[in-house]
Amino acid sequence: MPQPTHAQTPTIQIAVINESTVLADADVSPVVAALQKQVTNDFGPVWGTAAQLTIVPKGAPPAAGSWWLVLLDDSDQANALGYHDLTTEGLPIGKVFAASDLKAGTSWTVTASHELLEMLGDPNINLTVFVQNSNTAGTLYAYEVCDACEDDSVGYQVDNILLSDFVYPSWFESFRPEGSTQFDRMNKIQTPLQLLAGGYIGTFVVNSGSGWTQQTAEKRPTNILHRGSVGTRRERRSIPHELWINSLPQKKIVSNAQKYRQLLESIQQRRQEAA
Ligand SMILES: [Zn+2]
Repeated sequence: MPQPTHAQTPTIQIAVINESTVLADADVSPVVAALQKQVTNDFGPVWGTAAQLTIVPKGAPPAAGSWWLVLLDDSDQANALGYHDLTTEGLPIGKVFAASDLKAGTSWTVTASHELLEMLGDPNINLTVFVQNSNTAGTLYAYEVCDACEDDSVGYQVDNILLSDFVYPSWFESFRPEGSTQFDRMNKIQTPLQLLAGGYIGTFVVNSGSGWTQQTAEKRPTNILHRGSVGTRRERRSIPHELWINSLPQKKIVSNAQKYRQLLESIQQRRQEAA
């Protein structure tokens, strides 16, 4: 039997894969450097986790045993290429839909930060906090660390890159009085489970029979993004893990990516011809 060693936080290896057609590798590398600083200096000490990010060169396989942070255009492209609920090896995967962000006028770097931190905070997308309202009723809160403060306006800069605010563990601890401690990195939140403007959190009201639903600060969905496209953490949390599927083998992804690029080019060409 292996002997226990001194306690230390294992470093999680994260492969950053750029499949998007809207981000050049030169756009990505300074962002990854900023994300690395965020994890090491800001998030890791508070949440007791450590990660090392490595950019995967185009067409190269991600390192075995790594978790993935994949930069994609949108949910459709993710699916067409074969990026699903877990990596090819069945490990955690985070997806950033950069073209969707550009279209919506939101920051893809904040989304990258959001997806990275939430993957580290709840890699299996199954942790919750239970708030019991009576002997027989209560609500489960999704253990998502960026949703409550996800709006770009409460993000912060590291080396001129805008990153996401994130909550501290205290945000999930109902015994903490208002203003008694820090609840998020930017110190904008005053009480446990408080949502900032533009923020939201997944809740599952036990016995309601309605499964996971979304609470927003505005009490109603304000943005189509709140629906949760296929492959988002919200969508994955709402379906049983036994229905999750692994991403395709890398070879298949590479050939699908090629086909997808050709498809986009032929659509582009037909548009030009029609114009
Ligand atoms: Zn989230």
